[in-house]
Amino acid sequence: MTSDFDLYDYLLVGHGIAGAVLARELRGRGHRVLVYDEPRPDAASRVAAGLMNPVAGKRFAFTWQALETLPYAVAYYKELGRELGANFLAETTILKVFGSAQEQQQMLARAAQDPWAGFVAGIDTAPIAQPGLLAPHGGAWLRGGGHVRVAELLAALARQGTAAGWLREETFSWENVVSDAAGVAYAPGRVRARQVVCCQGAAALNCPYFSWPPLTPNQGEVLAVEVPGLSEQQVLNRGAYVVPDGAGRFRVGATYRWPPFAPAGSAEGETELLGRLLGLTPLPYRVLGLRRGVRPAVRDRRPLLGRHPALPWLSVFGGFGSKGVSLAPRLAQQVADYLDGQGQLWPEADVARYHKLYSAEILENKPTFKTFG
Ligand SMILES: Cc1cc2nc3c(=O)[nH]c(=O)nc-3n(C[C@H](O)[C@H](O)[C@H](O)COP(=O)(O)OP(=O)(O)OC[C@H]3O[C@@H](n4cnc5c(N)ncnc54)[C@H](O)[C@@H]3O)c2cc1C
Repeated sequence: MTSDFDLYDYLLVGHGIAGAVLARELRGRGHRVLVYDEPRPDAASRVAAGLMNPVAGKRFAFTWQALETLPYAVAYYKELGRELGANFLAETTILKVFGSAQEQQQMLARAAQDPWAGFVAGIDTAPIAQPGLLAPHGGAWLRGGGHVRVAELLAALARQGTAAGWLREETFSWENVVSDAAGVAYAPGRVRARQVVCCQGAAALNCPYFSWPPLTPNQGEVLAVEVPGLSEQQVLNRGAYVVPDGAGRFRVGATYRWPPFAPAGSAEGETELLGRLLGLTPLPYRVLGLRRGVRPAVRDRRPLLGRHPALPWLSVFGGFGSKGVSLAPRLAQQVADYLDGQGQLWPEADVARYHKLYSAEILENKPTFKTFG
């Protein structure tokens, strides 16, 4: 019955940054890959400011696995830009503006030590004299990161994928998946695949087979503004980030909101982000627009990677929270090795850490798979 179906090694659901880099990795290894994506403009990846920052949060914590993932991501996006004939990466310095003398001392104590040393280009303890910048306690200049124009990058890849036939811009319906020992068949697309990978971001919650890991949607907003006179030489970071977008435009992000989410039209996020912007510059600004998206956040703030405990044809590649842009490239390489049977996942990111939450009862309540022969 399924003999006229096209056969793929991997069927990926989702072409946000996660699905996009995993598809490229698997295709690069010679696998036959088909990606389904409903290209929603509010997908986290299309809204994200694309910042890759070695520092996380107020306390100057070092970003998880930054040494392994950041240099890899920078090289990755450079190479991808060359391949697509456009540059999507800006290796801009990030100025972490100190909010107090105490923050300044904290950073000075850390800066000389590894792993900080490689990422700190300099520290200003005096007020930073730059037109329109409020930095009375100085700041730390961070290198090794930057920002990626993710929406444009995904659009370029999608054009390539739809033209070459490895991407279908359609909604994938899990209820139409039928499995057997060799993999799955998906009748609406007339395709069979040995493996399926859920790369749906926060919408992985809608995949009936991954309802058990503690994935929580987290709403975020980014404000586009025009601030004539503000330097575009750096990303500013204090509470919020202010990412240069060219021609005097900037993206100010981001809010974090757990359900219930702000309704469409709510001005709360804009007010919060403008407050943060005004903490960094007194220059006049013009609001250009607000974008909202939903992050795939995990309870322990680590990604969710790896095989389903009971369905050997099914894996997940997601849970990237607020760090998908910097984490996804290196982890796609790791997951591709793992799927090829050549490597292990980092235990902190392996979905196996939550297998205890998976139980027969959960599976029983889910749609059962029909078999085909
Ligand atoms: C406001 C905001 C700002 C952010 N800023 C940054 C930042 O500066 N730096 C950073 O690293 N990260 C940032 N993030 C986080 C980052 O966006 C995420 O970590 C990352 O985009 C997650 O990528 P993903 O591919 O897993 O999910 P998504 O981007 O959500 O992509 C999933 C894709 O799957 C598709 N899909 C879902 N279900 C189906 C289905 N049934 N059939 C077909 N397709 C389907 C969706 O439509 C979507 O295209 C930000 C997030 C938000 C919301």
